[in-house]
Amino acid sequence: MLQVDLFDNYNIAGDVGVIAICAVIVILLSTAYVVRTRSFHVFLNVIASLTVAALVNILYHFLLAKGDSSPVALIYVLRVVYQMLLLDVLFLFALYTTQASGMEHKKARAVAIIAVTLFTVTVGIDVILSLTGTGFRIAEDGTVTGRSNVFVIGYILFIALLAILMTQIRHLVYKRILYGFYGTMIVSVAIRFIQLALNQSSLTTMTFVFPTIAMLYIMHSNPYSVTLGTVDIRAMEEMVRNMYGKKSEFVFLSLLLPDFDEEGKEFPEELSRLARKFSAKYFKKGVLFQLSNGHVVLVAPKQYNPDYEKRIERILANFEEQYQRLHLPYKIVVGESNDEISRRNEYASLIKSVVNSQPENTVCRVSSENIERYNREEYILRELTDIFKKCDVDDPRVLAFCQPVFNLKAFKFDTAEALMRLDLERTGIVYPDEFIPLAESHGFIHVLTEIILNKTCREIRKLIEEGYSIERISVNVSALELKDKDFCEDITKIIDGNSISGDKIAIELTESSSEADFMIMKEKVEELRDKGIQFYLDDFGTGYSNMQKIMELPFDIIKFDRSLVIASGTGDRAGRIVENLAHIFKDMEYSILYEGVETDVDEKRCQDMSASYLQGYKYSRPVPIEQLREFLQKAE
Ligand code: C2E
Ligand code: CA
Ligand code: CA
Repeated sequence: MLQVDLFDNYNIAGDVGVIAICAVIVILLSTAYVVRTRSFHVFLNVIASLTVAALVNILYHFLLAKGDSSPVALIYVLRVVYQMLLLDVLFLFALYTTQASGMEHKKARAVAIIAVTLFTVTVGIDVILSLTGTGFRIAEDGTVTGRSNVFVIGYILFIALLAILMTQIRHLVYKRILYGFYGTMIVSVAIRFIQLALNQSSLTTMTFVFPTIAMLYIMHSNPYSVTLGTVDIRAMEEMVRNMYGKKSEFVFLSLLLPDFDEEGKEFPEELSRLARKFSAKYFKKGVLFQLSNGHVVLVAPKQYNPDYEKRIERILANFEEQYQRLHLPYKIVVGESNDEISRRNEYASLIKSVVNSQPENTVCRVSSENIERYNREEYILRELTDIFKKCDVDDPRVLAFCQPVFNLKAFKFDTAEALMRLDLERTGIVYPDEFIPLAESHGFIHVLTEIILNKTCREIRKLIEEGYSIERISVNVSALELKDKDFCEDITKIIDGNSISGDKIAIELTESSSEADFMIMKEKVEELRDKGIQFYLDDFGTGYSNMQKIMELPFDIIKFDRSLVIASGTGDRAGRIVENLAHIFKDMEYSILYEGVETDVDEKRCQDMSASYLQGYKYSRPVPIEQLREFLQKAE
């Protein structure tokens, strides 16, 4: 053990404390959630330098206290090393500040040069003074003179540099962060000078620890965006929980800039500045949260902002002004706390759901209908999640409906399209427009396809057993599903499991947009075609059709969308285009199916445009699959 009182006014406790704190920080870093920004390794360097500095300082004082028997040269070296390490920490602080604030490259370099010069000159002068006998000196009899004056001057200059640096970045950084660092610096400097006044030296290293803790707290544990002044979304949940507990109401204002809502994109400087002002300027105790890259939400207690309505109006007016200048697409959502949503702490998903169905460049005030719709969506999503988890191909909540298709050549209904519905306890029947996008975005769609395919196959088997003539039933498949490597296996398993042959099933696909997706689609189509499964191109005429791509895929039937059926009836030109398209496909031995045939006039027109199949309300709306037999004939 080292002695407690090593050398006159130095006490080992300060440096032991530093080492302990650094150890705790390292433990926290390895166990807690840490934001590892670009400047994080600078922070790690600070910790390392501080630990070594504390160790060196202990050793230095230990040797100094031992007196005679200590190697004098080593004491000199340790002293210089200690001072170098502390100056190094100051240098790292400066570097950290320039990096974290995203300071302009040229300015940051200037700061680095000044810091390096300061470092070198301070250490240099100190060493020269020692060597020439005018600085720090240990006399033959062990008395020490001229301790550390140069270093104190260097220290002050460094602090001055940091203070100037802070003023330089003040327009780049969120105010509260800045205040956090100012406060910490003041405490550090105060302690340093109190210590000096008391002729003490135990807490020198410790004063460097305070800003380090501030860095950890402000920058790495509490994930602030330095440029926007936003706080991570989890902190919003914390705030909502808190306010709900205290029964205090709040308003929220969400701003989404779709152009910036992507990983790695940042708001332009000008907008960042606005966002920083946003919360502080308009609302007392308002906090700005970051939902995603281009999406921020301001939450402010009503209690401190009784005139919140007026303030919101002001913000919106201000925003309108900015929009006139910047012309960036936006979506704004304004709302007030709602007990139900607060209890479930679901503002983030409520806002996202509202934004999803909101047109660009509009302001939406969250109404009770919005909340109802959101609750319905949440409920449907929960049920979908449950269906996905249970993965039961007989799940009674997924209904197979069916729309008969008229075969013009055979002149009878001998095929149909399977269409999905959900039958949920609280909502009753839910239509695909409402749940297919949800299922797709949450990765549940493939399970739904498996269920509908299973139910379709089972019905086909029954129909065949009962003697009905049924060519096949087509099932809709989302392009997303094809990416699953087990896709083909899953499909064939279900078909085989129901003991029907592959040619009783067709798969409807829509055109893929990307080259990569196209290649995957091609692969899967070719594999499943070998099992007899036919392929339909769905919704032809709704997207940017790429004829060359379409021809590359071995489709059997092209389904002309209802929009083409309508277009063909509007005038000569549009009609002729559709007619010619149909002609081309027919020439290439594709069959053509017209969708959305509603009237006799539609039917007649489609018949004259190379139709092989007709489908639409004229013949039947989609019906429960068990009712399909009403349209079919018994095989002779
Ligand atoms: P879709 O594949 O284009 O299906 C045709 C839609 O048009 C059906 O709507 C059908 O009810 C409707 N329809 C049929 N005849 C007429 C008509 O004469 N006039 C008009 N205006 N509409 C007609 P539904 O059943 O609401 O399905 C909507 C969409 O949901 C489908 O469009 C399809 O994209 C998707 N969908 C439905 N079932 C499934 C499924 O099992 N899996 C997948 N992935 N998507 C499905
Ligand atoms: Ca379809
Ligand atoms: Ca379609």
